Amino acid sequence: MELLFERSRAGRGMDLLPGCDVPEADFAEGLLRQEAPKLPELAEIDLGRHYTELAKETHGVNDGFYPLGSCTMKYNPRINEEMSSLPGFTAIHPLQPENSVQGALQVMYETEKLLGEITGMDSITLQPAAGAHGEYTGLLLIRNYHLSRGDKGRTKIIVPDSAHGTNPASAVMAGFSVVSVPSNADGGVDLEALRAAVGDDTAGLMLTNPNTVGIFDPNILEITSIIHEAGGLCYYDGANLNAIMGVVRPGDMGFDCVHVNLHKTFSTPHGGGGPGSGPVGCKAFLADFLPTPQVRLSDGVYSLFAPANSMGQVRSFGGNFLVVVRALAYILTLGKEGIPEASTNAVLNANYMMSLLKGKYDMAYDTVCMHEFVMTLEKLKHDYGVAAMDVAKRLLDFGIHPPTMYFPLIVHEALMIEPTETESKETLDKAAELFLNILEEAKTDGEALHHAPHDCYIGRPDEVNAARKPVLTYSFA
Ligand SMILES: *Cc1c(COP(=O)(O)O)cnc(C)c1O
Repeated sequence: MELLFERSRAGRGMDLLPGCDVPEADFAEGLLRQEAPKLPELAEIDLGRHYTELAKETHGVNDGFYPLGSCTMKYNPRINEEMSSLPGFTAIHPLQPENSVQGALQVMYETEKLLGEITGMDSITLQPAAGAHGEYTGLLLIRNYHLSRGDKGRTKIIVPDSAHGTNPASAVMAGFSVVSVPSNADGGVDLEALRAAVGDDTAGLMLTNPNTVGIFDPNILEITSIIHEAGGLCYYDGANLNAIMGVVRPGDMGFDCVHVNLHKTFSTPHGGGGPGSGPVGCKAFLADFLPTPQVRLSDGVYSLFAPANSMGQVRSFGGNFLVVVRALAYILTLGKEGIPEASTNAVLNANYMMSLLKGKYDMAYDTVCMHEFVMTLEKLKHDYGVAAMDVAKRLLDFGIHPPTMYFPLIVHEALMIEPTETESKETLDKAAELFLNILEEAKTDGEALHHAPHDCYIGRPDEVNAARKPVLTYSFA
């Protein structure tokens, strides 16, 4: 496919710039660039075709089933996009006086209140721009809390091995060292190992729940009390709240802070990599340490303020505001009944699809799952030489996006499937049938699977180089 620069022809440009609505400024000589930027010059129709061609080469949730586990690539209702594109939200500036952006401050205030209700927390900051950023912010809350009490020896964060990979990374970023505790045979935290790991140096625990194998830890209350008895705090990784929202609350399970990913559970598409938002909630005793600014309401007027012992800003202004607008629209549209219904359906769909595949594909854990389940293709690979990668790639030929592969790391030849709440029974039946057909193919004609997909523009890219050495600029040479 030709790139924009390759399609470009000198002089073919089309520019329709609106009239300048601010006074023209005089720039000092040295500030102006010496030559015009090299921009592609194309007619509108050619530009349109370029992007349409690109769109056809990707697979989105509008193209078909997209069962990517742990990330919740779910369908985000259009109305939320519409709300976030209202000019009253898109045409404001964060430096405007507060009295001219009362509506925007109200959106932030109400979203904070609703997320507080959903997570069982007393205060929320909307600043963090992503899940890992939320983790970092929450860990700074924990750190600042211990330090404010003169408790300087709490340097360790306990992270179960079934945690999301960002958990240990965030703990190190926040200046802690990480103690890993193993899972038990059922996929939950090994309580004996946890008891042995806590001590005077425990700053806290980070728990991904449901964990990365899709299991809600049955000992959750015991886990949080073991940590609290040791003087540590409990952090709940709620990046993916899709299994529990409106059903149970981290705050009721003994957690002191939590982050949620608005770009997973609360209706911002994140297929292209952003923008995201990872609000952090905390119990009242941590609220003074939250980032600034926070929004408050008094005498019917919304205003920004800095919490007493604030850690400062973790991002510019109020965070990714338009993502917050989508989340508020989503929560208000679903309402108090719709929120738990979405989660219950997500869990039901995952269990339904798992039941269709069970007995044919090997499940990593023989238990009821939450919003996603993990299969292990270790035996298939051993017996027939067909790997998880081959099965995942073959799905593309039938218009299904591959599930997450080789994650979680503690399961070999893993395929992690998350159907999400909006998929119909017919879609799940059809997808399960395809999975079973591919299993048959693997056993009879495994060789063909090594070359799948057969019908895609790009089949098996060099993923390491694509991730480590992406080519993001055009070389004019
Ligand atoms: C996605 C995810 C994260 C990280 O969120 P980002 O927005 O990608 O930084 C953390 N924990 C869990 C459980 C996740 O699913």
